[in-house]
Amino acid sequence: MRHMKTETKIKQYDKRRMMIVVMLIVIAFFCIFLIVGKKKEMEIIIKVDAMTMLQEEQLPTFTAKILSTEKPEVVLDKKKNYTVGKLISDLKKEGSYVIKPNTDGTTDGTYKIHAVINKKFYQMQQKKWKRYVKFHVEDGILTVENKYGVWEGTKFLKADGVYITNDWLSSQGNRYYFDENSNKVIGKRQIGIYNCKFGKNGKLLSQKIVIDSKKPMIALTFDDGPGEGTHQILSELERWGAHATFFMIGKNIAKYDDTVKYMEAIGCEMGNHTFSHKKLTKLDAQSVAEEIQGMDNQLREAVEKKTTVMRPPWGAVNDIVRTTAEVPLIMWSIDTKDWKTRNTQGTIDNVLNTAVDGDIVLMHDIHITTVDAAITIIPELINRGYQLVTVSELAKARGISLENGSIYYEFHPN
Ligand code: ZN
Repeated sequence: MRHMKTETKIKQYDKRRMMIVVMLIVIAFFCIFLIVGKKKEMEIIIKVDAMTMLQEEQLPTFTAKILSTEKPEVVLDKKKNYTVGKLISDLKKEGSYVIKPNTDGTTDGTYKIHAVINKKFYQMQQKKWKRYVKFHVEDGILTVENKYGVWEGTKFLKADGVYITNDWLSSQGNRYYFDENSNKVIGKRQIGIYNCKFGKNGKLLSQKIVIDSKKPMIALTFDDGPGEGTHQILSELERWGAHATFFMIGKNIAKYDDTVKYMEAIGCEMGNHTFSHKKLTKLDAQSVAEEIQGMDNQLREAVEKKTTVMRPPWGAVNDIVRTTAEVPLIMWSIDTKDWKTRNTQGTIDNVLNTAVDGDIVLMHDIHITTVDAAITIIPELINRGYQLVTVSELAKARGISLENGSIYYEFHPN
């Protein structure tokens, strides 16, 4: 029995020794494989260059430097004599990678510029040297400078060397308003018919239209546009927190698509002035309908909205027009005759000397003399205590519900 036990022990001892030897051999092979089989890992780096551009200008051509952690003469493929330098020059070839910024350049601020390696090129490289060539992208920074100028503390200096005063600024996706002393507004402030709330940093947080029915108001209306100068009138209205109504000609809309979008965005009213400004009283019912619908179709294409009011060309109305128009018909109480005089000061005087609470003022935004006049008229009427509102806002404030096909000339207080 004792002998048997010793023999077993010897067998177990041999077994253990064998296992250690096998393990040592395996480890040795593994080490040899590591040293011989594995090439040194290296990185190819696409380092995107920093860029600066002016807001809304064309994006610049982006560039990058290609760097590597190995020298260019290092051979990757002995058979083909393919070196690191060759790989870099292949990567530099057109189409191997594209550089894209994180912005379209319309909003100022700083953005990342990223490089993306062409998928096919990348997959091919990965197949060949997955183990030891790694691709790495270092983002660049694109600085989009505000097109209007630069911040100077609480003020904003425009490119023309003047601080923004009583006007808005869009910067880095936020809206700011600068007061009469050119300082950005903080907290609550009434701007025209808008109740605005600004944060501690001056960013606009909210704005609400508040029309006081006890205070005087006037509806400025502009016919025959949109035209070249319409945008300027709109930005003046926006500046002072004012609204107006634009009776537009349908065939003019496509050309001034952006102007109409802006008009809608700032709360102005869009009125129907027919498609091609024909005297509707000389047309048959079918043609009247075509003229009215033609304008609505154009507007729908631009802003997906329908006109809410109509002013027939020359104010020419008959029963056909009244029954065909699916909106109220708006005339005027003050005719500036701006189309005839083409005189800026004459138009200014006409409005400022005659317009009173509840008036509907007729002007034409297709004349530059009228555009210039509007820029004086808008702040002056507000300065005199008038709220500048749309025709529909004026009627509503006077407690009148407008009826389709009915004709209105003014909304004077009772
Ligand atoms: Zn007209």
